Amino acid sequence: MKRHSRQRDAVRNALCSVKSHPTATVVYDMVRAEFPNISLATVYRNLAEMHQSGDALMLTTKSGAVHFDADTSQHSHHCCLTCGGVSDVFIELPNLCEIANETGCDAEYYSLMFYGECDSCRSKVKN
Ligand SMILES: [Zn+2]
Ligand SMILES: [Zn+2]
Repeated sequence: MKRHSRQRDAVRNALCSVKSHPTATVVYDMVRAEFPNISLATVYRNLAEMHQSGDALMLTTKSGAVHFDADTSQHSHHCCLTCGGVSDVFIELPNLCEIANETGCDAEYYSLMFYGECDSCRSKVKN
């Protein structure tokens, strides 16, 4: 039991230490240095639990890849169509109250993903 909570903490700390929106596989590689016997399934389960308890965002991109984000504040994302990388987008968006006025539906939060080439792929010299 102790071992499991230590693994859970390692997964949690790994996700909180980066802003790169890693997939479970990337987090797995990060914690494997400390816990060589940890399985990818355990890492994924711990990340999914963080999402369920509201401590992480779970972002599924167009390709089907699932990325995790320890920053649960309201923000949008960009997904690169070339490298698949996910990055943060902080831009002003319509007030959620306007959604209610417009549609009569209550809007509590939004989830927005922009697609296109990322900054680093765009700046690569194309031969
Ligand atoms: Zn890219
Ligand atoms: Zn984010």
